[in-house]
Amino acid sequence: MKTEHNPKIHMMHVDLNEVPRSGFSWDTVVSLPDIQADGPDGVKGIDSASRPAHWQGSIERCGECFLLKAHLEAYVHRRCDRCMSAYEELLVEDVERQYSLIERPEMDDEGSSIELLASSATISLLDTLKEEVWLAMSPVARCSETCRGMCADCGENLNVSECSCQKDDMDHPFAALKKLNFDS
Ligand SMILES: [Zn+2]
Ligand SMILES: [Zn+2]
Repeated sequence: MKTEHNPKIHMMHVDLNEVPRSGFSWDTVVSLPDIQADGPDGVKGIDSASRPAHWQGSIERCGECFLLKAHLEAYVHRRCDRCMSAYEELLVEDVERQYSLIERPEMDDEGSSIELLASSATISLLDTLKEEVWLAMSPVARCSETCRGMCADCGENLNVSECSCQKDDMDHPFAALKKLNFDS
């Protein structure tokens, strides 16, 4: 299906009533500091602004519904839960959403993914991108699969260097027993 850029899209807000029969598409680069500022509470690990995100997609009419298909590529700066090092996470995600302006019986079905826009036919592509970026981030911030974390005793980043505690096998659960003097 042929898509075209809609001149009525301003600030990435789309009035679905204005979507032409042929649908429309967008292809843009969005700065990520905005996303960071609007991050939902309780989500940790975003450390600083990152590179702009590539955000492209299309909205097509499908009967009474509107089908949004999009693709995002974004980098977010994160801090490893284990070793506290900063690293960059690449997010690559295919997005699919469905919107409806009128309530339909099947929308009550469990698992329906159609979002009913009751009060306004306008959606924000920027807000959609922000939500999808947060959803795409891995819940655990880990700089690498093999991250060795920090020494619980001296705080040394064990990815960078060994600490002297390690030679005593201090991460063994019973290692502390070695320190006890049973003769006293
Ligand atoms: Zn790490
Ligand atoms: Zn140590």
